[in-house]
Amino acid sequence: MALRPVLQFPDPRLKRVSKPIAKITDEIRALAQDMLEVMYDEPGIGLAAPQVGEPIRLVVMDTTWTEEGSERSPIVVVNPEIVEREGTITWNEGCLSVPDFQAEVERSGRVRVRGFDLEGLPFEEEAEELRAVCFQHEIDHLDGVLFIDRISRLKRSLYVQKRKKALRRESEEGEDAGAPSGRAL
Ligand SMILES: [Zn+2]
Repeated sequence: MALRPVLQFPDPRLKRVSKPIAKITDEIRALAQDMLEVMYDEPGIGLAAPQVGEPIRLVVMDTTWTEEGSERSPIVVVNPEIVEREGTITWNEGCLSVPDFQAEVERSGRVRVRGFDLEGLPFEEEAEELRAVCFQHEIDHLDGVLFIDRISRLKRSLYVQKRKKALRRESEEGEDAGAPSGRAL
């Protein structure tokens, strides 16, 4: 089966607020599996369901995975929520839905995340550094927020112009604007 395409800015579906998952069905489990496949294929270290067009509160992550062939330690979190946060950290972020762009974003340095796993059991993790950044980035997706919504207006508008130009070129020449570089979230 073909992999699900990742929606890209400025697709309006990325701005929707996703709904909590009421029941973990086989369909949800299959979606999580699809999302992991997409994430490793891109490659990225995190993916939220709205990025593949499903407006539900489901995220997958693997922040230790660095390259093809290395060991995978994926997590799937249903209805993730940040219940505690502390400190600040600035990280150079990228996103599979925001092609060809990275920018420094300030976020909480340490977060405690709660949710459920695919068996419906409680999930809880305290995360720091990249992992804390990744949780915040993915949960933002569930609220229709992209990392470019958290940078200065000037930087954002420069990116929006660049992206519009790339999309115009793409539609004129039928070319792919290219994949993001680095580790996208
Ligand atoms: Zn993202």
